[in-house]
Amino acid sequence: MGNSLVNTRDQKFVLYEQNGIERMFASDRYREFSREVVDMILSEAEKFAVEEILPTYEIGDKQDPAVFKDGKTYAPRCYHEPYRKYCESGWICSVAAPEFGGQGLPISINIACSELFGAANYAFLMYPGLTVGAATLIGTYGNEEQIKKYALKMFSGEWSGTMCLTEPGAGTDVGNLRTSARRLPDGTFSITGTKCFISSGDHDLTEQIVHPVLARIEGDPPGTKGISIFIVPKYRVNKDGGLGEFNDVITGNIEHKMGIKGSATATLNFGENGNCIGELLGNEREGMKVMFQLVNRARLSTGMQGLDLASVSYEHAVQYAKDRIQSRKIEDWNNPAAPAVTIINHPDVRRSLLWMKAHVEGMRAMNYFIAYCIDMERIAASEEEREKMNGFVELLTPIGKAYCSDKAVEICTLGIDIFGGYGYCNEYPMEQYLRDSKIATIYEGTNYIQSLDLVARKLGQNKGRNLINLFGEIASTIEKIKSREELRPKAVYLENALAAVGNLAKSFADWGRGPDYILPILNARPFLMIMGDLVIGWKLLQAAGIAQERLDALYREAGTDETKAHSLAQDNAEIAFYQGKVASANYFAINVLPTVAARCKCISLADKTPLEMVQESFST
Ligand SMILES: Cc1cc2nc3c(=O)[nH]c(=O)nc-3n(C[C@H](O)[C@H](O)[C@H](O)COP(=O)(O)OP(=O)(O)OC[C@H]3O[C@@H](n4cnc5c(N)ncnc54)[C@H](O)[C@@H]3O)c2cc1C
Repeated sequence: MGNSLVNTRDQKFVLYEQNGIERMFASDRYREFSREVVDMILSEAEKFAVEEILPTYEIGDKQDPAVFKDGKTYAPRCYHEPYRKYCESGWICSVAAPEFGGQGLPISINIACSELFGAANYAFLMYPGLTVGAATLIGTYGNEEQIKKYALKMFSGEWSGTMCLTEPGAGTDVGNLRTSARRLPDGTFSITGTKCFISSGDHDLTEQIVHPVLARIEGDPPGTKGISIFIVPKYRVNKDGGLGEFNDVITGNIEHKMGIKGSATATLNFGENGNCIGELLGNEREGMKVMFQLVNRARLSTGMQGLDLASVSYEHAVQYAKDRIQSRKIEDWNNPAAPAVTIINHPDVRRSLLWMKAHVEGMRAMNYFIAYCIDMERIAASEEEREKMNGFVELLTPIGKAYCSDKAVEICTLGIDIFGGYGYCNEYPMEQYLRDSKIATIYEGTNYIQSLDLVARKLGQNKGRNLINLFGEIASTIEKIKSREELRPKAVYLENALAAVGNLAKSFADWGRGPDYILPILNARPFLMIMGDLVIGWKLLQAAGIAQERLDALYREAGTDETKAHSLAQDNAEIAFYQGKVASANYFAINVLPTVAARCKCISLADKTPLEMVQESFST
């Protein structure tokens, strides 16, 4: 089936041809999967996305967003039926282990399904997404009783979940939180405090909502080291597993937001009446460690949110450019009698579309590679392999989150431009894509915080081996594609970019040890985007190498050569697809990769103007 959300041919290219996920099916863990099974799952996901989720997209934004009325929060009415079906058909817990009722789906496949769901309506996906994240947290760190009491009902979707970190005075600085936990004689805790901006914090899709809440046990030290995590349900749970009395989790209000208006973002007051009970999850003062399992997965999902919206915006832009007739061809500029053509004929529209296409494909390849590494880490045959895969996940998670979310905003902006004035108006969904994409640069740690994580922790993690391993993979791709004459010049652009980033990473390490330690902190954000371009360039050229081989075979099969490539592509979808892959890589290599060295050079000049300027000079 065709859809206007995601290029499923490219999904399969990345899964099978680039990542080679079929080799995972030889492992014990994933032996029940095969290409046939995966194709079937993807096709069902596409059907569900298009038929059940997509119809809620505009309604949940405009006519029927989440609302707070008379002290109660309501999710969009149109979400209820798809939420029920999403749970009943097992999508909600597809990655969960069979003992939790799941199918143990590899993350690689889950992420491909989630791209379809998120492109159909990310605001909808947040309710089940956070639920399964919180359930996994309890499944991993909870005791048997907590798993039985909470996690199982969350994995089935009967109850939902959240993640509660942020407070009015503790956003980026989580360690500054004020929510407190007082020990009670029976081993539980009395929770008091306010959490704000809590996604799915309150709604009527499920009766019960289970909140993992960060709080400080009275007497514990300040900062992140003194934080513990508690399971705090909206309603207490009776011995028989049924719902008991209200647990004093009162919704103050929900936010009126720029986008994702179907997702209820609540302010929650815990223990306003001194009657809110929480159970410790894991060990005392290990709250950050526990919560980070959820946060790391949420960062991957947020990078995916960027990809989802970039993808759907691009797919719509291409379609519109093929349909919209406006202006004559440039060759006919001075001939008023010449017919107007579809806008895809105009050079700037083609350039914009190819810029979008290259980034969307590169972001897909990067995110799917992170997912693939999570899977490979789980089934690694040796400790060395496991460590290597884990290293890629650690290093690439902040890049995937921040790069994809920042680029999504640019891609969705360009998508509006392609639609002209119609893109700015709400009769088309383009403006909603832009609004819905923006939050991904802010939550799950702002993109600056991702950048700081990259330069201050991840570059040097594992004694720098993770970075060296990544550079090694990129270098081996360069060697491989250099052997192909048509790709060799592009491989050189990647090689230059790699060398420039390598030198800058060394400067960061030197600066970090000396008086200029502030420079990596000051330049973390541009550095992350440079790393993102390097990774995307690598993935696109790797894909081009594969595509070029397939093209050779297809030309041979057709009994022709590259000179007829153009006309062949018009009649053969596979040839058109692979030529498109090579074009994405060529475009990115020539137009983006050379800027990497230039941007590295800027940072190496060690400019400190933003720090040296007096505050008054920012605005007088
Ligand atoms: C729609 C929505 C949904 C959300 N969902 C959730 C949720 O489910 N659970 C949850 O716990 N939270 C959630 N959040 C909160 C979100 O994670 C925070 O908004 C975010 O972490 C930033 O915190 P803040 O808004 O207080 O901004 P601040 O921390 O005040 O930051 C403001 C700016 O200052 C910068 N800044 C702050 N400190 C530093 C520093 N040390 N160095 C450099 N720059 C710095 C930031 O990067 C940012 O640009 C959500 C927010 C929104 C808007």
